[in-house]
Amino acid sequence: MKPSDTRALVLNSGSSSLKYQLIDMAGHDRLASGIVERIGEGPVADHGEALRIVSGELAAAGSGLDDERLAVIGHRVVHGGTRFTEPTLIDDEVVAELEKLVPLAPLHNPANIAGIQVARTLRPGLPQVAVFDTAFHATIPEAAARYAVDAATADRFGIRRYGFHGTSHAYVSRATAALLGKAPDEVNVIVLHLGNGASASAVERGRCVETSMGLTPLEGLVMGTRSGDIDPAVVFHLARTGGMSTDEIDTLLNKRSGLVGLCGDNDMREIARRIGEGDESARLAFDVYCHRIRKYVGAYTAVLGEVDAIAFTAGVGENSAAVREASTQNLRALGVELDPVLNAVRARSPRIVSAAGSRVAVAVVPTDEELEIATQAYSLAAQNRPK
Ligand code: ADP
Repeated sequence: MKPSDTRALVLNSGSSSLKYQLIDMAGHDRLASGIVERIGEGPVADHGEALRIVSGELAAAGSGLDDERLAVIGHRVVHGGTRFTEPTLIDDEVVAELEKLVPLAPLHNPANIAGIQVARTLRPGLPQVAVFDTAFHATIPEAAARYAVDAATADRFGIRRYGFHGTSHAYVSRATAALLGKAPDEVNVIVLHLGNGASASAVERGRCVETSMGLTPLEGLVMGTRSGDIDPAVVFHLARTGGMSTDEIDTLLNKRSGLVGLCGDNDMREIARRIGEGDESARLAFDVYCHRIRKYVGAYTAVLGEVDAIAFTAGVGENSAAVREASTQNLRALGVELDPVLNAVRARSPRIVSAAGSRVAVAVVPTDEELEIATQAYSLAAQNRPK
């Protein structure tokens, strides 16, 4: 890697899509971005074909995969287990370790690995870095990470809270500190990442100490299609009384629950429109969604003791003033007071939307997972530059 090699390519490979972004790290300029969809259906046979399409699109944008200025490829990897708690330079041994983690994330990790393997084939010798969704949560204390189940069983099957969306929680908690004019280790922040998936985290002086997703991304907040928290006995009840199989219950809770389960829509814009027309199931879905967020804000206030800011991020958090309002209503006892006028302003930059007298700042902080992955991957590649 030469000083002129300032470009980082970020790949986020899912089971049926490959998202990419090419970023120039010198000025954080987005040089190209896109998505190849429907991998495995029709013309895009597999991840190898998808990456060749990406390479073509990058070349058309003036900087193909063979560009000498490309310093690193950063790969988003969903589950790092307890083995990977830092961005990691990928070699054969790392890939073998990633394979071992597949049982923990059967829906996500195989696609991540496929993306890594094809990128290594197309650009052998180029540093490739895995950046894990779980990594930021590795600092969560045992008291918060352990479930109260039989310890031997938990250890045998790796059952504990891992947490996800860590790249976003890391980026947003730091950006929130910056918005307050403070260093990350000077503030306590509750981050609410409300996208299609949704999760909350409690970040104490820059270190994550609690998060709402668990062994898998199913736990915690109400999401677009996932239930979030439920009594685990619902699963036994559906199996015994409903005669449902494990796979059917998995699909029910991951794909047919959450907002879509409650009202048939998972897009908050559509839900807001229906509420405007007096639709009761949309109203209920909205209320369940916001009630859950409030509960977590209360719980995480207790976990942190002192809270400097609550940061809303991702599609819903950044755009829905109604969700921000409903989920922070009547929190004066916790020192949280929204400014309705500031909250209603639409903008793309990080901003404070709480009232001047609010002890806890409420902030809207756009997330940028690609930039965070690029930054982490680039810095690791620079450290490992051959002397
Ligand atoms: P992903 O988890 O797929 O990255 P995003 O963070 O992009 O998701 O969030 C997508 C969700 O954001 C959509 O499903 C929708 O509910 C919500 N959303 C996007 N734009 C708006 C908007 N203007 N108002 C309310 N909700 C929005």
